[in-house]
Formats: sequence, C-alpha cells, structure tokens
Amino acid sequence: MIIIENVAVATVDADGTEFPDGHVVVGDDGRIAAVGAGRSELAGERVNGAGCLVTPGLVNTHHHLYQWATRGLALDETLFGWLTTLYPIWGRLDAEIVGAAAGAGLGWLALSGCTTSMDHHYVFPRDGGDVLAAEIEAARSIGIRFHPTRGSMDLSRKDGGLPPDHLVEDTDEALAATEAAIDRWHDPAPDSMLRIAVAPCSPFSVTTRLMEEAAVLARRKGVRLHTHLAETDDEEEFCLKQFGCTPVEYAERVGWLGDDVWLAHGVHLDDAAIVKLGTTGTGVAHCPSSNARLGTGAARVRELVDHRVPVGLGVDGAASQEVSHLGAELRQALYTARQRGGPKAMDAREALRLGTIGGARCLGRQDDIGSIEPGKLADLVMWRLDGLGHDGIDDRVAALVFGPPARVDLALVGGRRIVERGELVNADADTLTANARRAHRRLLDVS
Ligand SMILES: [Zn+2]
Repeated sequence: MIIIENVAVATVDADGTEFPDGHVVVGDDGRIAAVGAGRSELAGERVNGAGCLVTPGLVNTHHHLYQWATRGLALDETLFGWLTTLYPIWGRLDAEIVGAAAGAGLGWLALSGCTTSMDHHYVFPRDGGDVLAAEIEAARSIGIRFHPTRGSMDLSRKDGGLPPDHLVEDTDEALAATEAAIDRWHDPAPDSMLRIAVAPCSPFSVTTRLMEEAAVLARRKGVRLHTHLAETDDEEEFCLKQFGCTPVEYAERVGWLGDDVWLAHGVHLDDAAIVKLGTTGTGVAHCPSSNARLGTGAARVRELVDHRVPVGLGVDGAASQEVSHLGAELRQALYTARQRGGPKAMDAREALRLGTIGGARCLGRQDDIGSIEPGKLADLVMWRLDGLGHDGIDDRVAALVFGPPARVDLALVGGRRIVERGELVNADADTLTANARRAHRRLLDVS
C-alpha cells in the first residue's frame, strides 16, 4: 500500500470532488483503495504530499513519437508545406531511430505528468524494420501506459494524394499489417498497459477503400479507430474537390463516426459537424499548441464540449510543436478557448477534465483511468506547487493550470512509480537525450 497524505486532491470525478487537505491510498493490486479528507487510518508506506496537488495522470490523445527525431525543421510552414518538407526525411526512418525518438518523447511526456499516451505511427519504410515493436519497447522501458496505433498511407502524389510515392503502402498490405499488429500486441484487459487502434493517416494520404476497410477491420477486432480530420482549410478544400463534401461528411460516408472513433484536431467544423460528432459520440483530440505552431486555427472546444463530444488533449508530434509537454497543454487549451470565446469559455477545472477523464473517454478507458475513485487504476500525478512559480496561488487547480508547468514529484501507473522528484524512475534522461541526438543526426545525415 502507498498512502499519499497531507496533500490537496482533485479527483476529477463526476461531481468534481476536491480535498484541500486529503489522502489517496493505492492498494497492492495497483488500484485506488481510498480517497478522502484528512489522514488515512490504513497502514502502508506513507508519502508526505505537503505543498503538492494530486490529480489523475494526464492522458495524451494524439502524438507522433517518431517526430522527436525531426524537431526544429520547417518552422514557418503551413501543414501541407511542413509535411512536404518532412516526408522525404521520414522516408529514411528505421526501427532504431523510431525507438530512440519514442524513448525521448515518452520520457518527456512522463515528466510532464502524462501516465497514458497514444501514438499515431503511419510511416513504414520498406527497409525500416519493426518500427512498431521499437516504440512499444520504448514505452515498456519508461513504464507508461501505451495505446499505439497502426497507421497507414496508401494515396501518394501519383494518385492525387500529398505524400511521395515511395512513402505509401499497398492498401491490402497495410490492412494485413494492421490486423497482424492487433493480433500480436492488443491487450483488451481492464488493466491493459498496451492497446492497439487502427489509424489511417488523413483524407489526403489515404484512399477511400482503406478508410472503409480499416473501419470494418477495427470493428471486427473490437479495437478503436483514429485519424486526422478537419485540421486545416487546405484539407477542407481537398475534401470538397475530391469527395464533394466536408471532412466530417466524408468521415460519415466511410463509416468513421461512432463512439469507438476519436479524431485528431477537429479545428474546422461547422455547426452541423459538431452536432454530428456529439450525437454519434465521436471523440476529438484537441491539440491547441500544434494548431498554434502550424497556424491552422483554433478548435471550437466550448461548442464541442457543450454538444457532449468527448474531448481530450494531445501534444501532437514533436516536430509540429517542439514543447510536447502535456502539462503545459492544460493552459494552452484554456487560453485557446478564451481567445475564441472570452474568459468564461473555459475554467481551470474544465481544462483538467479534458486532460484526464476527457482523454480517457477518447481512448475508451473511462472505466479504468482518468479520475481518482476507489477501484480505478492508480494512475496518479503529484504536482509540486510550493515553489516560486506557483506559491501564493491559493486555488491549487488554478495554480497547476494558470501557472508555469509544475514539477512532477510522483507519477504512478497502476501503482508503480515512473517519475519521482522530477526524475524518471526506469530510465535515464541523459541517455534518452543522447540516443535521440544520435538518431536525429543519422536521420538528417549530419555529424
Ligand atoms: Zn498529428
């Protein structure tokens, strides 16, 4: 048993229960045994949380870990300009580079308060080796709960798509490889550390047949579906020209709306699209920093939440927003909502909900993670809030969201420590940095 006490607790349960001075007890089964006010009478290892706030671990709903190897490039481009600059470089990816990038990206995420992350990997060079296995191994070495997706692209420039011809897969090969990845890796257990989803990349890099058959495959296997949608005006223009409809109308046409689907971005949505996402229970991974870095626009998060769309937060790939810090995304989400809708558009607690239970809903894990309630998995973060950056902001949740990114003093995944006193427990940050630097230099062919 671990008993965290003398600590502020924001449970993010349905009633928004908080304890200014409370405790959380983690059982030997890796689940939350108790949460409440004051001290616990139970016996166990005691952790003094003075000066800290405990929240559910953050859930990252959109990422491309391999992009850690190509940070800092195409800094002033639109999405399509950025992609066409980076595609040729990504064509040289291999398992060693992806493993090093994933180790750095996941280690950094853990230090930013993330305990569950998805990854959207859609680049599979022919001679690149087993890149999915490489990132799964990286996640195990950090100890983070992992939801990698088997992505794919099969629509290249010669067929009217955006990626170069050598970067796409054959449609049937991509589907077969996706099914093989599910069979090999997917664990549906309630305490699963590893679940696979099916994730063709985007309307402008994937054929209609792949979209349709991917949806059929995912439903046959009982796994979730993920893709990019409605990220830019360029994409909307592409859909109107190619398919004669908006991105969300296209998603509906190919069987991609439902409570087993979550979409990255959802920036350019009209009222009808928001209603449709809400009534079908289709989730949205909101990536405000990436949207700002690429200048793609600001998602209508207030309206999405009001229409009961499950909304989570995502850092998106490290090459489209170099911060890649999920804790910082809480504030960015709040700022983005307020820049659209004024100061009432989002408060600190709603930002925290998006980053925790909202993300869990996107990944289909709301029964297991995303809030601190007895019986749920003990995926927790204890944030230090008594230093220069936060002290004096008496509302502890406001201190976390409005203040600078807070140090993680303790992060637990299923009751197991992955971060302690701002350091990774299972990996060495300097080694991750050196491995990622080597991967970056080899990929860019610089010494
Ligand atoms: Zn993305």
